[in-house]
This record gives sequence, structure tokens and C-alpha cells, in this order.
Amino acid sequence: MNTEIGEVVLVGGGPGDPDLLTVGGLRALREADVVLYDHLAPLACLTETKAGAELVDVGKIPGGRQTAQDEINRLLVEHARAGAKVVRFKGGDPFVLGRGSEEWLACSEAGVPVRVVPGVSSAIAGPELAGVPLTHRGLSQDFTVVSGHVGPDHPASTVNWDALAHTHGTIVVLMGVAHLAEICAGLVARGLASGTPAAIVAKAALPDQRVLRGTVASLPALAADAGVEPPALTVIGAVVGLDLLG
Ligand code: SAH
Repeated sequence: MNTEIGEVVLVGGGPGDPDLLTVGGLRALREADVVLYDHLAPLACLTETKAGAELVDVGKIPGGRQTAQDEINRLLVEHARAGAKVVRFKGGDPFVLGRGSEEWLACSEAGVPVRVVPGVSSAIAGPELAGVPLTHRGLSQDFTVVSGHVGPDHPASTVNWDALAHTHGTIVVLMGVAHLAEICAGLVARGLASGTPAAIVAKAALPDQRVLRGTVASLPALAADAGVEPPALTVIGAVVGLDLLG
């Protein structure tokens, strides 16, 4: 048995296209003995792992099969303690609205060496691949990325939706498909102009990427009619009116 402790590398894989994985992320993946991946990671890259590497699906499918975060943390620590080089292969960037920081803490509390390889966040790449810049001179000087896993009417939301409605910048909502109607209506109710351009980008960077454009008032019905499912992100603001791909 290997008595030397291994390590955990939290690898941000980008939003799904293997081309958006960083060189450092690819190197870590190639060197890994164990890879814990989920459905948001660029799965096509798993073929890059070495022969005999153990690949473990720890996905959290919305409304589907779930791996508890505690279980993921436990597996990371257990494999590293057994001497393995462990990669936690995630979609986007590990520290943007994911639970990568909890995984980091679980490792460091257990005395397991841990490091992070940043990834291209879907929050930025998704709009970009849909032809929407997050900032644009004269239109928007800032962007805010928020979690839509609970909407503005939910007591568990810590987002300042009142402020967001008046930001004059760009709003990017992740994990917001289920509560899209509540989020859009909530922003309008708080003062955002109902004609503000808005788009939803589903499966960004994947072969079946889809983009729907409308306004903050019309987007929820457009998305529902089109049957949009996660993973998808919403971008709201004047920059959506630019449509560079047009
Ligand atoms: N850390 C990740 C985000 C994790 S939260 C990142 O930086 O991208 C999960 C949410 O990310 C999804 O609900 C969805 O809103 C968004 N997301 C991840 N991959 C996506 C993709 N390929 N296309 C659109 N949205 C995506």
C-alpha cells in the first residue's frame, strides 16, 4: 500500500468545449490517478486520462441523480490519503458559484494538499459565444454574476435584487432556469425597464448550444415554449442588444 499522501487538484474545465480547457488543466488530467467528474465538465477530455486511471461520476443533475457534496468531499480526501493524484474535474471555474471552495476546505482540514487550476467560467464564455460582450463602451461598464437557484421572492436569496434592478450594467444569472419567470418579473417589479434586452444561452460551448433572445419581459415565455433545460445561463442588459453574431 502507498503510504505517501497524494494530492487533490480542483480543475476548472471550462463550459464544455475541450478547446477551452487550460494547458495546466489538461496536464493535471493527464497525470491523475483518480478523476471525480460531473456532467458540467468537458467530458470529451476524459479520453486524455492515462490508462488505468479511475474515473468516477459525481454529478448533481438538476432534478435527477445527485451526489451529496459531503460524499464528494469524502471521496477526494479518501483517494488522496491512499496516495492518489486526484483531479476534481468541474465545469467552468471552480470558484464561481460552484462548491469548489468547500472541496478545498475539506481537503485542507483533512491535511490533504490541494490546489486549484482556474477555468474559463460559463458566466463569461457563455454570453461571449452567443455574441454578447459583458461590457461595451457606452453600454455597460460592469457585470454581476448571480445565482438563480433561488429567486428574488425566496427567503434564502441573499442577492440584493433591488440594487441589481438599478445597476445599469449587465446581469448574468447562472442556475436560473427553474426560476427564470420569478427572476425576470422580480427585476421588472423592482424598476428594471421591461424592454431591457435579455438572452438565454443553453449548453454554451457544446455542439447543441442554443441562444434565445428577447427582453426581460418576454424571455421566460420564450424559454418555456422552446423547452430550454439546464445547463443554461441568462444575460440581461443593453449589451444583449448588440448581437455581434447577428
Ligand atoms: N463554476 C461554473 C458554474 C457552476 S453553477 C462556471 O464557472 O461556469 C452551474 C451553472 O453554470 C448552470 O446552472 C448554468 O447556469 C451554468 N453553466 C455551466 N455550464 C454551462 C454551459 N455549458 N452552458 C450554459 N450554462 C452553463
